[in-house]
Formats: sequence, C-alpha cells, structure tokens
Amino acid sequence: MAAETLGEPRDRKPSLQGSIEAFQDVVSSAVIIPKEDGVISVSDDRTIRVWLKRDSGQYWPSVYHTMPCNTCMSFNPETRRLSIGMDTGTLDLWNRAHQGKVSVVLFVLEMEWLLSTGQDKSFTWHCSESGQQLGTHRTSSWVSGLQFDVETRHAFVGDQSGQVTILKLEQDSCSLVTTFKGHTGNVTALCWDPVQRVLFSGSSDHSIIMWDIGGRKGTAIELQGHSEKIEGLCYASHTRQLISCSSDGSIVVWNMDVTRQETPEWLDSDSCQKCEQPFFWNFKQMWDSKKIGLRQHHCRKCGQAVCGKCSSKRSAIPLMGFEFEVRVCDSCYGSITEEDRAPTATFHNSKHNIVYMHYEPTTGCLLTSGTDKVIKVRKKYCLY
Ligand SMILES: [Zn+2]
Ligand SMILES: [Zn+2]
Repeated sequence: MAAETLGEPRDRKPSLQGSIEAFQDVVSSAVIIPKEDGVISVSDDRTIRVWLKRDSGQYWPSVYHTMPCNTCMSFNPETRRLSIGMDTGTLDLWNRAHQGKVSVVLFVLEMEWLLSTGQDKSFTWHCSESGQQLGTHRTSSWVSGLQFDVETRHAFVGDQSGQVTILKLEQDSCSLVTTFKGHTGNVTALCWDPVQRVLFSGSSDHSIIMWDIGGRKGTAIELQGHSEKIEGLCYASHTRQLISCSSDGSIVVWNMDVTRQETPEWLDSDSCQKCEQPFFWNFKQMWDSKKIGLRQHHCRKCGQAVCGKCSSKRSAIPLMGFEFEVRVCDSCYGSITEEDRAPTATFHNSKHNIVYMHYEPTTGCLLTSGTDKVIKVRKKYCLY
C-alpha cells in the first residue's frame, strides 16, 4: 500500500464523495459508471437517469427517460450496455418474458445472455443479440437474488422461501444441480466470487452465509454482524473484502482473508450437558431428582445444550462469524482469549435506511440508495 500522505486521517474512514437528492421517489437500483464518474439510477418514479459529476463535485442530470412502468436493471461497464426488466414482464424492448413483474435482470457478456427472474416464479434466459428466449425454469418461490458463474455456466437463484437453487445452464436447457438451505428468512441478496468460488447469501433473518463451493468440503460459514434485514452484498476481490448492508443503514466490511470456522450443530439433550440438571420436558428426571426443569440454551461455540446458569456469559467470536456478543457456556468463555475477540470486520453507518447498494471496484466507490430518496457515493471503502 502506498505511504499515507500527510494530513490524511489515520482511520481511513470512508468519505462522502457526493449525494443526489433530486428524486421524487426511492431509487430502487443504481450503478456507478467508472470512467465518467457518473451514476445511472432507476427510480420508483419510473425514471431512468444518468448523472455526471461536475468539477464542482455535484452530480448533474444528463439523460432522463421516463418508462411506462417501474423497472430493474443490469449494467455492463465494458460494453456500457444497460439491460432493463419491467413490471409488465417485459425485458428491454422485447416481447413479454414473464407473466408478472421482472424482479432481477443480469446481463452476461461472455455468453450474450440476459438472465431474468419474475414474480411469476420463473427464471428465463434470452439471447441478448436476437432477443430469442433460450430456456426457462420454474422456481419454487418469488426470486430475489440472481448470480451467474461464467466458467461453469451455473446460475444461483435465491428466493423468498430462503433457499438458493443452483442450475446448470446449457444453450437451451437447464438442470437442477442442488439447493442450499440455511436461512430462516427470505434470501434478499446474493453475491458470487468467481475467483475463490464462494457464494454469499444475505437474508431477512439478518445473517449472511458464505457457501464455500471452491473448497469442495461443503463448508458454510455464517456471518453475524447485522441486526436488520440484509439489503445488499458486494465482493471486492482485489482486497478480499465482503461489503454488506442492512435496512437500518449499517454497512459492514468483512475481511475475508481470515479463516473462519463453521458454527457447530446444536446438540440435543434432556438435561444440561454441564451441570446435568433436567430441562423442563424431562419429567422423569425432574420427579426422580425432585428438581425443577430448566430452559434449554445452546453455546454458540461448542453447540452443547446448557442451562442458563452454565451459560451466563456473552462473547463475540469473530472467527466463527459472530461479530456481536453471543451466548457461550462458561467453559468456552474461559477458553476465548482477548485476541480471539479482535473484530474481523469494520462497521459504518450510512445514515439512511438502505434499499440498494452497489460497489465499483476500479474507483473503490460505494453507492447506497435509501428510503430518504437520496443516493450517496462514498470513496475509500476497502482500502485498509
Ligand atoms: Zn447447567
Ligand atoms: Zn461451549
């Protein structure tokens, strides 16, 4: 890393580069155009706008287009192609592709494919040159996240039931590879790192799961650092950092160079695995030993079923993905050192309730859109 220039703040806090506040409605998605220092926004007021940054640092509107309905988009910075999916089920200017609102569009330059999902619970892919539909697949639930691996032609489809479906796409057909089930809420965001071959899924259950596909051991690591619904996930591959945001406006930057451990399975027991006092459903032991049944808890570190007395302490366990303090049994608490508690993520406050996030790797800029109808662009994320 280059030496810090004099006068630069030492904590390298992300600085606000600019904000755009001219919207009638919430901006549902937006991207940074790296070379022009511009922003493309798609808003609930049905407009698609291009904003260019002036020398004064302000963003000025340069293109303004009103669509017949609400839209979602996918922007390819290389070809500068903008793909649009509409609430009427239409993709770009083609024929109707979905029976309901288009929820996600993803343009894949290498294949010349436009992938899309709709509220009609279908996943389709089209040739982006001819507009011809190549194939379709029914999903079990409404889709909210979509990623694609160009090398192996796998599509990752996250839905409202909380599962992620992995499909192998051929030119005109697809086959179901597997499904990942790990969230207790909807999947709200997906992010694929093609280098490490890791899939990140974010959920309304406040958690992020890192599915290590490249490691080939079936490892799934939970990342707990948010206290609200996850709204966006971006991966900065050059610095190996995951950026996540939640609806309460918090942004967490995770250091993914750290080796984290999987959380243990919770063990089942009829009595505390430390003091052997019966749990409240264990009538026999309660009667035999004339003891009152206790409530069952689980230690997040060892997974043992313990009573409240034997798990009175709380600790962060960042190497297991717990950046917040969680319940641990007394013996595990004693084994966790100060060093083990050192955070592996940094926490930031965007100061608005985020609905959308985009990270632009070449400039290191992070864009957030909030319920306050404002877009904020910050620099210097991922530089520590
Ligand atoms: Zn106990
Ligand atoms: Zn324990």
